[in-house]
Amino acid sequence: MRILVASTPVGCLGSGRGGGVELTAAALVAGLLERGHRLTVLAGEGSRLPPACDGATLWCERGADQPSWQHRPRQAPVELPPDALLGRLWRRALQEQGQFDVIVNLAYDWLPLWLTPHTATPLAHLVSMGSVAEVMDGLIAELARSHPRHLAFHTAAQAADFALQDPPRLVGNGFDLDRYGFQAEPEPLLGWAGRIAPEKGLEDAAAVAAGLGLPLAVWGLEEDGAYARRVEAAVPAGTLQWRGFLPTERLQADLGRCAVLLNTPKWNEAFGNVVVEAMACGVPVAAYARGGPAEIVQEGLTGALAVPDDRASLAAAVLRARQVRRGDCRRWVEEHCSQQAFAARLEAWLAELCEAGAERR
Ligand code: UDP
Repeated sequence: MRILVASTPVGCLGSGRGGGVELTAAALVAGLLERGHRLTVLAGEGSRLPPACDGATLWCERGADQPSWQHRPRQAPVELPPDALLGRLWRRALQEQGQFDVIVNLAYDWLPLWLTPHTATPLAHLVSMGSVAEVMDGLIAELARSHPRHLAFHTAAQAADFALQDPPRLVGNGFDLDRYGFQAEPEPLLGWAGRIAPEKGLEDAAAVAAGLGLPLAVWGLEEDGAYARRVEAAVPAGTLQWRGFLPTERLQADLGRCAVLLNTPKWNEAFGNVVVEAMACGVPVAAYARGGPAEIVQEGLTGALAVPDDRASLAAAVLRARQVRRGDCRRWVEEHCSQQAFAARLEAWLAELCEAGAERR
């Protein structure tokens, strides 16, 4: 298939501003290239793809970032800044659509979803978040009725947020596991990784680390500086070790040193890339039993689950997770989260959509 991948209009690939979508985009492209497809990626100016995506063509557009839906009120109307990157990306996608068999949209945005019935080339949406805005919920529900084959989700917990008529197509996520080294011996250190923003619940991980008397290393893009300072002020000095936002090669080398990764989403996390990335390095995960992480963490095998928002339960989960065999974490992700398996699931979805499109033409 000739596949156009339209990336997020929040930041450029490699900046971290797009969150987990950036890693998903790289795995999707590399995995589908490996299966012999032709890939073009349309993304914000300054985007970089990892070497495994070298076979893809990269088209960049400049323009103003889209505000992230998860940081706006649920009732907020659709917003486009002047010179919106979103508009430029989709103008280019529409201009070039004749060269492709299918377009894959990774943006959680109204415009590409709304375009679905109006494109000549089938438009497939890998929905990257759960429900965060009414206008998006309404459009996803509408498409689920009129164009159900065009939608895919990462996890059942994420898909359950939406009013879907048919069982959802679930594709999980995929990781180039060669990029993650297994580390058998941990240090007396807890870890946390993600965008530093309120929906990620860093304050709970910090409080639990302080209670257990262990330092907490924090990796990720600081989206909300005032929030980061509040979290820091609430725990004894030295509890938090800010490590900044690192590229995957350096992140995995550091992550592997942790005894346990804490994952504390306050929202219905669609997947939770960092959970799998930690496990790939042999690090068990203590997570709130909410959203994607609750489907990924296997109690007693790859970590432990806690009652959401209950810090005492999370502290107990950290202690249970420390007992897990690190080799089991790595094995589990090899079996369930490889880039190859992800690409095979995506290929099945996209091929079905292309066939249905060909029948209609
Ligand atoms: N990440 C990174 N470097 C860091 C910390 C995080 O590249 O120092 C990436 C990580 O690999 C993951 C993403 O940030 O892909 C966070 O994605 P996740 O699915 O956990 O949450 P999201 O940001 O999408 O809500």
